[in-house]
Amino acid sequence: MFNTGVKELNGPTTLLEAIKYFADEDVCIRTLLAIRWPDGVIPCPSCRNTAHYYLAARKIWKCKACSRQFSIKVGTIFEDSPIKLSKWLPAMWMIHGAKNVLSSYEIHRTIGVTQKTAWFMLYRIRLAMKAGSIEKLGDDVKMDETYIGGKARNMDKHVKARQITGTSGKDKSVVFGMLERGGEVNVQHVDRPKKKTLEAIIE
Ligand SMILES: [Zn+2]
Repeated sequence: MFNTGVKELNGPTTLLEAIKYFADEDVCIRTLLAIRWPDGVIPCPSCRNTAHYYLAARKIWKCKACSRQFSIKVGTIFEDSPIKLSKWLPAMWMIHGAKNVLSSYEIHRTIGVTQKTAWFMLYRIRLAMKAGSIEKLGDDVKMDETYIGGKARNMDKHVKARQITGTSGKDKSVVFGMLERGGEVNVQHVDRPKKKTLEAIIE
């Protein structure tokens, strides 16, 4: 759960309310301001200076010290994505308040983004919930799937039974690894490198 921000996200009480509420970009910005800097002091992401102009028409800040401009997304899990805050925040609201584990399909249907986008959003929001912060952590998480060699005869029966067949992965096991910067490496064997299987592991 988020250390802060729970209160800010608790405004709307129903999904419909949340979608309407966060349709206003200024509301989204105010919500994120309260989550990120509850004391109202906004540090420039480039030089940490706290004096700046707010360019209301473009909804960005311009640092008085280094002159660089930044939006509320800079330095957060929302960075590097063209997804609007009006999509991110209802998704965050949904995931935060969900009693059950939400699937990317539910996000896709409810928020009106493609399932691929929904998957990406779900992934980043869960990462933030785990970390207890929406601030971006280092280089994010790297994901890759690797085929590791090994002749079938050298494997024990258990592994052999789960060995994948098919041209590309013949005689190979599939090892899916997740490496979190500064964290632990999580490597496990998967039967088939299907999206669903990988998604379940990431979750
Ligand atoms: Zn600056």
